[in-house]
Amino acid sequence: MKFSTLVDYLAQLEATSKRLEMTRILGELFKHADADDIAAIVYLTQERLAPNYEAIEFGMGEALIAQAVTLATGVPLADVKKLYKERGDYGNVAEELSRAKSKKLQVDQVFEKLREIATTSGEGTVEKRVNLLADMLKACSPREARYLLRVPMGRLRLGVGDVTVLDGLSWSETGDKSLRPDLERAYNITSDLGLVAETFKRSGFKGLSKLKIAVGRPIRMELAERAKSAQEIIDRMGECALEPKVDGFRVQAHKDGEKVRLFSRNLEETTEMFPDVADAVRAQLEAKRAIIEGEAIAFDPETGDFRPFQETIQRKRKYGIDEMKETLPLKLLAFDVLWIDGEDVTGVGYKERHERLGELIAEGPGIQLIEQIYVNEPKAIDEFFMTKVEAGLEGIMAKRLDSKYVAGARNFNWMKFKRAYQGHLRDTMDLVVVGYLRGRGQRARFGIGALLCAVYDKKNDRFRTVAKVGSGLTEMEWLEYRNKLDAIALDHPHARVDSKMTPDVWVEPKYVMEVQADEITRSPIHTAGAKGDDPGYALRFPRVTNPNRIDKSPEDATTEHEIISMFEKQSRSEVKG
Ligand code: ATP
Repeated sequence: MKFSTLVDYLAQLEATSKRLEMTRILGELFKHADADDIAAIVYLTQERLAPNYEAIEFGMGEALIAQAVTLATGVPLADVKKLYKERGDYGNVAEELSRAKSKKLQVDQVFEKLREIATTSGEGTVEKRVNLLADMLKACSPREARYLLRVPMGRLRLGVGDVTVLDGLSWSETGDKSLRPDLERAYNITSDLGLVAETFKRSGFKGLSKLKIAVGRPIRMELAERAKSAQEIIDRMGECALEPKVDGFRVQAHKDGEKVRLFSRNLEETTEMFPDVADAVRAQLEAKRAIIEGEAIAFDPETGDFRPFQETIQRKRKYGIDEMKETLPLKLLAFDVLWIDGEDVTGVGYKERHERLGELIAEGPGIQLIEQIYVNEPKAIDEFFMTKVEAGLEGIMAKRLDSKYVAGARNFNWMKFKRAYQGHLRDTMDLVVVGYLRGRGQRARFGIGALLCAVYDKKNDRFRTVAKVGSGLTEMEWLEYRNKLDAIALDHPHARVDSKMTPDVWVEPKYVMEVQADEITRSPIHTAGAKGDDPGYALRFPRVTNPNRIDKSPEDATTEHEIISMFEKQSRSEVKG
């Protein structure tokens, strides 16, 4: 496909904020794409150069982009920078200054060159990058230049989410969303939308079922539903297994001989961050190749006691890793196995998987099989729960004995039973910031007084507002938020945001914060859970408990469905007193 054709579609996508329309445009685009190009097209529309889990960054900041524009157009650097100050976007600057007419560039060439820029390293990297980009700019028409720069700089802001891509793929074949479940399943086990698109294009939806789990490529993680009481667990599961709910970091570990890769809850690679866990996987996992999951938690090397989350979280850092691994080593409490030496065991029942996991782990300090018991009555659950809570843990996890590992699903195969659920609404929620209000009084001087926050509506892949949050942040944190949000501000609501309230500044849904509230109430002001004329749901007295849930992407935020079920549970507990 010619790059100019892709650019035509990008311009159409940019002009709409309606999701259905977006799906239709993507459907057309995918229909016209060749199997050889479609992966690149999918990545580029999402402003990426690789699947989400590969941390390939474009690697050129504004200063270098300006140099490349100068080199390509001959316009002096000072003038380029001046124009940028006026326009605020290098895409527009390049479009205005570009004189070329040719529309010869192909999508695959552009993609390869952008990747080359991103992966160039060693001596003279900066110069090489500037030259490569300038060469491409020279070959671009003005409009192509605009998008060429916007894609890698993350300035497209089309709002094309993963689910919209899947819907678009389905649409390209059937004109509707009917193939989304098959496409989603393929995505859940590969985490690579480009691969899913290419496979679909080459061999249709039947080809999708041939996509398999592969070591080294993360699998979207299974998640748990909330349980309100021991009785509810037994009612739903009957006899089940209980494990302590350990408060650390979720780790999916892939071992391929000596090569180990670790992924976070969010499928970001954390191998370099946790070298002690990677070493333990190498040493203690008795399979040549395997994929296991567990929770990594810091422990005191003197006493062997586990450390609280506030200490474990200090291991989330990019620098000083070697020192931290001595003072605050991590232990992986393994709780599942997905794949062993070429055998996909996600279809095997939980009980058997757990036994096989036990056989895989050799003695050693770095990995330990998580404690587990079987129970068949509420009393035993309450007892286990109490001992864990008394030991300072958050609670327990209940697991259905015959359940498969369902990638990317949140269902009642796993139920989390936390201390907080026993009282009123004490569990926290993870909300996505979609805008901010300037505020009055004290904080008006920072220009930010409250954040408009939303939950995720999974079915329609959009964010629906649930609260205006104005407390819980320190002055520093407000300022930091203001800066972060201004960098992603929009002059209109984002295509995937559904809001009745209009904040002073709209932003891209990007940042997730943990929020606690006293209660969930019905509310006509917010859109979360609103149906027809029925009001939505809102949080009463919301306050931020953690401003940066960096381990969560917007789609991992609390869902609309969860808010409704928390509201129902809360009402029931009120009736009971
Ligand atoms: P979620 O991950 O469900 O979206 P969250 O990030 O707020 O929500 P919690 O609700 O506290 O996390 O609980 C789920 C997490 O608990 C898992 O993702 C995992 O990291 C952790 N966990 C701790 N112990 C276990 C266990 N025994 N089995 C499964 N997960 C466990």
